[in-house]
Amino acid sequence: MDIPKEVKFVIQELEKNGFEAYIVGGCVRDVLRGVEPLDWDVATNAKPEQISKIFPKSFIDNKFGTVTVLTESEEPKLKEIEITPYRIDEKYTDKRHPDKVEWAKTVEEDLARRDFTVNAMALRFAQGKPKVIDLFKGQEDLKDKIIRAVGKAEDRFSEDALRLLRAVRFTTTLGEGWKIEPKTNQAIKKNALWLQAISKERQRDEFLKIIMSDRADEGIELLRKTGLLKYIIPELKEGYGVTQNKHHIYECYEHNILSLKFAAKKSFNKYVRLAALLHDIGKPRTKRGEGPEATFYNHEIVGAKMTAQILNRLRFPKKDIEKIAKLVRYHFFYYNVDEVSEASVRRLVRSVGPENMAELLQVRMADRIGSGVPKAEPYKLRHLKYVIERVAQDPISVSLLKVSGDDIMKILGVRPGPKVGHILDVLLGYVLDDPKKNTKDFLEKEVKKLGKLSDKELKELAQKARQEREKIVSKRDEMTKQKYWVT
Ligand code: ATP
Ligand code: MG
Repeated sequence: MDIPKEVKFVIQELEKNGFEAYIVGGCVRDVLRGVEPLDWDVATNAKPEQISKIFPKSFIDNKFGTVTVLTESEEPKLKEIEITPYRIDEKYTDKRHPDKVEWAKTVEEDLARRDFTVNAMALRFAQGKPKVIDLFKGQEDLKDKIIRAVGKAEDRFSEDALRLLRAVRFTTTLGEGWKIEPKTNQAIKKNALWLQAISKERQRDEFLKIIMSDRADEGIELLRKTGLLKYIIPELKEGYGVTQNKHHIYECYEHNILSLKFAAKKSFNKYVRLAALLHDIGKPRTKRGEGPEATFYNHEIVGAKMTAQILNRLRFPKKDIEKIAKLVRYHFFYYNVDEVSEASVRRLVRSVGPENMAELLQVRMADRIGSGVPKAEPYKLRHLKYVIERVAQDPISVSLLKVSGDDIMKILGVRPGPKVGHILDVLLGYVLDDPKKNTKDFLEKEVKKLGKLSDKELKELAQKARQEREKIVSKRDEMTKQKYWVT
């Protein structure tokens, strides 16, 4: 893996000035496993003021003394390189913030404060030769795909309880086959409740990384097994072991997870993934009866409210909350070809918002696949997509024209009557033939010409234009049908 020249430059400049500099943390992990890092972090024994002296285009940006260096790179993640002085985090009394951050003298001290062995390596390439500093056998754990706390797990989680959640996040996002090392896992299970000390915003950011990974479903399951889910979305646990009815072979919780799995497999966006996970969250609370005939009336309404509460608690932006709650609220729409009127499709589009329709259909797909009894639904869904597009299309009518019936009456000095209608029809024919002709100038000239024709001639022209127009309308419908493979 190549180290980008911007990163090399930063390191060389620091070394030229007599300091040490390493790439550290997640990017070393990613370089060693042959994956392009999301960002590049550099650590050094220089102090913030010394760093900013070396790089005129830089700023010191937070309490950890990180200096951000601006580069000329076109690539977003290389536009800014973060350089952080070696540090140790001193004494944590609230499981959240170090009471004091202190500069450290050596890179070894800096690595020891990091969360997991695979994240606690440093890489230098002085004289062209790469050298890995790996005090905690991170390379071995990388090879074995193991997330292991640096040092004594319980102490490390007690220092910063966000690490509980980060353990699950890395196990989920790093790829297939990753596991949490048994002692680390035990420490998480035993101390899951410490997560409550962490702000909801920080929890949300890690949670979203789990949701956005290819293995999102496994991540949620791991949260449940480690006992962390209870502190993030306890409502999901309510569905654990709750059976459904004859339409479903999976329990509520399993069904939610499988729907998310499908959404992740399809690389759907975060709204669809979250809606897929939460779409049936209202079921346990609305279940009536047992066995194959159990019902869940209004689960989508209850579920939408719960969704809004959950996302609000996790401090999601208001816009996202509204959108996802809508997807949950309307996921259960009824659609049967020929049975559901165009008017009710219009109503659905209006309630959900035209901009959310594509995502709603994706949630519905995830729901169907997650139910384990996928019916012959694809045709129904395609047909619905077709009707949605049809009702969204502008009607082809004389209202498209840049001149109106009133204009015509004024130009020709005539009263309302069939003549005006005929002229409009003929003009629409011209414009459908060539949309560029839809200008006031052109059309007004044509009105004058048409006004000179006899009633009979005009009527014939208008009739021909109307026939042409019908052909175009049905052609458009035909094309829309073809697009969705429906008849
Ligand atoms: P990603 O590829 O998702 O960015 P990352 O490993 O770079 O993963 P970051 O959250 O960007 O993760 O953090 C960068 C590095 O800082 C980590 O690799 C780890 O060494 C250290 N780190 C971050 N957060 C913590 C924490 N809460 N406790 C200890 N070390 C941490
Ligand atoms: Mg990172």
